[in-house]
Amino acid sequence: MITISPGHWRVGSGASDLLDEVVEARKVVNRVVEILEDHRILTTKIEDNVSKSPSSNLNYLVQQHNGSKRKVDVSVHFNASGNRVPYGIGTEVLYYDAVLLATTMSKAISDTSGLKNRGAKKRQELAFLHRTTMPAILIEVCFVNSIEDVKLYEMHFESICRVIAEVLATYVGQPLTTIPAEKVAFSTTALTDKINLLLQDTNWRQQVITKGVEMNALMPVWEERQIGDIDSLGLCTILTKNLI
Ligand SMILES: [Zn+2]
Repeated sequence: MITISPGHWRVGSGASDLLDEVVEARKVVNRVVEILEDHRILTTKIEDNVSKSPSSNLNYLVQQHNGSKRKVDVSVHFNASGNRVPYGIGTEVLYYDAVLLATTMSKAISDTSGLKNRGAKKRQELAFLHRTTMPAILIEVCFVNSIEDVKLYEMHFESICRVIAEVLATYVGQPLTTIPAEKVAFSTTALTDKINLLLQDTNWRQQVITKGVEMNALMPVWEERQIGDIDSLGLCTILTKNLI
């Protein structure tokens, strides 16, 4: 569904000032992947620990992204603009042609963190953006040489990762539920697997609600709501009671 990687290769191979770009980009990617996987959204994480130069790094990332099954390619970076400054500079998202996704992402990060919204920027010459074959964005979370940016980033790390995951999940058609998806564990793995598979099927979940409302087993308000996994199982139980 989603393939995501931190920019550059070894620690120190990206921008560095108050923060090291590679260290932070890896942290953000790891957390975003965790959130997506908690919601059972298929995610591929790529991290380059083999390259020794910028060009081999870009080749590696592009090849790995293109070799994965996904609907969107995402690269996470941090920006730098020279000397250390006290004021905020902000967040921006670069894109090849996914302008809407880039615009939404930049605004979401800005809204949740207070980082200035520098918005979506078209950068068709960047290898990651033009050589990956799915819609691609490159997130520049904030500037490592801005004291204000680094403060906001550190303060809002969790909510920044959360909104990145949310925007991506919505983009691939699997919006994160309001209740974090509980790990559903039944007494056999076969049953757990079966239920998990069903819960990933958003069409089926929608059909349960439509059917339930039709049968007057469920209140119509359920059609408007974002439904968590446990709610889904509960609604199925109610529906079944009305069938028997
Ligand atoms: Zn970078």
